[in-house]
Amino acid sequence: ARTGGGGSLQVKVVLLGEGCVGKTSIVLRYVQNQFNDKHIQTLQASFLQKNLTINRRRLCLNIWDTAGQERYHALGPIYYRDSHAAIVVYDITDEDSFTKAKNWVRELRKMLGDSCVLVIVGNKSDLEKNKVIQEKDAQEYAASVGAKHFYTSAKQNKGIEEMFLDLSKRLLEKE
Ligand code: GDP
Ligand code: MG
Repeated sequence: ARTGGGGSLQVKVVLLGEGCVGKTSIVLRYVQNQFNDKHIQTLQASFLQKNLTINRRRLCLNIWDTAGQERYHALGPIYYRDSHAAIVVYDITDEDSFTKAKNWVRELRKMLGDSCVLVIVGNKSDLEKNKVIQEKDAQEYAASVGAKHFYTSAKQNKGIEEMFLDLSKRLLEKE
C-alpha cells in the first residue's frame, strides 16, 4: 500500500463472487447507506472510496465493484491485480454461490499469493430461514484458507461496518 496526500494509506479492495449475491448492495450500503431491492447494474467496473481513521491512522479504501462480468465468466485478473484485500461474497441461500466463492479464493491465491487480506462473506443473513450453507462449514473453510468469515445483510444493514472495520485493522497491522 502507498501513502497518499494527507498521510492517508491508500489501499485497493476488490469484491468478488457470483452475480446476484449482493456485492454491489454491500458497497452501496457501506459507502452511501442505501439499499435497493432490484439488482443494480453497474455499467463498468467502478470504485467507491471510503475514508477511515483507526487509532489516529488514516486509511482510504478504494473499493472495486464488478460491472457484472462475473456472470459471463469474463472477469479478468486485471480487475483484482494489485489488490491489498479481497472480499469474496456468497449468498447463504445459494449453494452454488458458495462453490463459486471457493473458486475465486483459489484463483486469488494463485494470482496474488498470501499477501492479500481475505474475507469470506455470507450475505443475505436476513434470509436465515432459507440458509443452505451451514455456519460450521463456512467457518472451517475460511480458516483453512487463512480468511475470516462474516455474515452480512445489506438489506438490514447488519455486519457490514464490522466486516470493513476488521478488514481495515488487518490492513493497518500489515503496514
Ligand atoms: P451483485 O450482482 O453481487 O452485485 O448483487 P446485487 O447487489 O445487485 O444484488 C442482487 C439482488 O440481491 C438484488 O435484488 C438485491 O436487492 C438483493 N440483495 C442484496 N443484498 C441482500 C441482502 O442482504 N438481503 C436480501 N434479502 N437481498 C439482498
Ligand atoms: Mg453488482
